[in-house]
Amino acid sequence: MVLWTMVDIPHNRLLITEEERRCVDSVLQSGWIARGEQSNALEKEFSTFFGRGDSCLLSSATAGLFLSLKLLGVSEGQFVAVPTYVCSALLNAIHMANARPLIVDIKQDDLNICPDSLSERSSGTPLVATFAVHTYGVPSDIDALRPIGGAIIEDCCQALGGESRGRKLGTIGDLSVFSFHATKIITCGHGGLIHDPQSAFAQAAKDYIDFDCRDTYEPRFNFFMSDIEAAMLRPQLSRIQTIMDQRKKIAERYLHVLPQGISVVGAPFAINQMIYRFVLRFSDMKNRDNAQCIFKKNGIKTIVPLTREELLHRYLNLDPALYPNAEHCVDTTLSLPLYPALDGSEIDRICDTLGSI
Ligand SMILES: *Cc1c(COP(=O)(O)O)cnc(C)c1O
Repeated sequence: MVLWTMVDIPHNRLLITEEERRCVDSVLQSGWIARGEQSNALEKEFSTFFGRGDSCLLSSATAGLFLSLKLLGVSEGQFVAVPTYVCSALLNAIHMANARPLIVDIKQDDLNICPDSLSERSSGTPLVATFAVHTYGVPSDIDALRPIGGAIIEDCCQALGGESRGRKLGTIGDLSVFSFHATKIITCGHGGLIHDPQSAFAQAAKDYIDFDCRDTYEPRFNFFMSDIEAAMLRPQLSRIQTIMDQRKKIAERYLHVLPQGISVVGAPFAINQMIYRFVLRFSDMKNRDNAQCIFKKNGIKTIVPLTREELLHRYLNLDPALYPNAEHCVDTTLSLPLYPALDGSEIDRICDTLGSI
């Protein structure tokens, strides 16, 4: 006899508060829903948050990655380096800019682009830019990439609010890009941001997307965010420290019960690290798959955060032997639910299950 049914814990769940609802509603009532006051205010709030430079809101991070290449003057056939362990949005941006991708392996420990592999793969190939992705919130080593990577574009889609050695992520490279897609740290459905620690590029980005009613013609593109979306983001940005603390607190509880033989990507966590995903690493694929079954039996949805097929070098049919760390990583990783909308009993259940593996 079944006395109760266990409700599954999803891998991700939105947390939308009354405040976001109120802000969106006031925009709907205002009669102005396209880009306007809300967007202007949010861009200023972002610049204040970063402590320098200027920001431009966009319709997606992919638009931001593309626009970064455009503004840096990347021209046809030039090479842009990108780690293989990323979503295809980065590859799409490179292709949209008519540039060519140089696909680089990742480091075993933090899953970020490997400077040695970058150096090796780019010898004889001048790079105009490198996408440095702070994977799962773990800071990429920008200083090590600088001498070899050309202009450094920080992909902060998984790292908003995080810091590296006292510097805010998004202010270290030449340009940085953020996403507000539904599964990201703060969200409005779809959306993005380009931040320029100086500010000339952010100005140029605003000019590029502003296509209407111009005196002279130049190809531009509509990558606007609406004021409805901007209004939804403003309260979330103001809560970013709380969001970071909540994620950290849950992650510390998981770490506390972590069984021997399993490690966690990016742990031990630094003080101001934004923990976007809690990614377990197993010794091999069999142990990983077993663990996933145990979580499933306990109603806990886990995901393999990136599969072998999705690795960029696989999409492009490049030799897998050049990417040993990424190839190993996709077999051995598993991501647990980690988000502020988890309640106490759900966290308990995840801890009990993790501890029992
Ligand atoms: C989500 C994500 C993107 C793409 O963001 P969109 O806003 O959906 O275009 C790019 N890079 C990383 C690391 C991401 O996590």
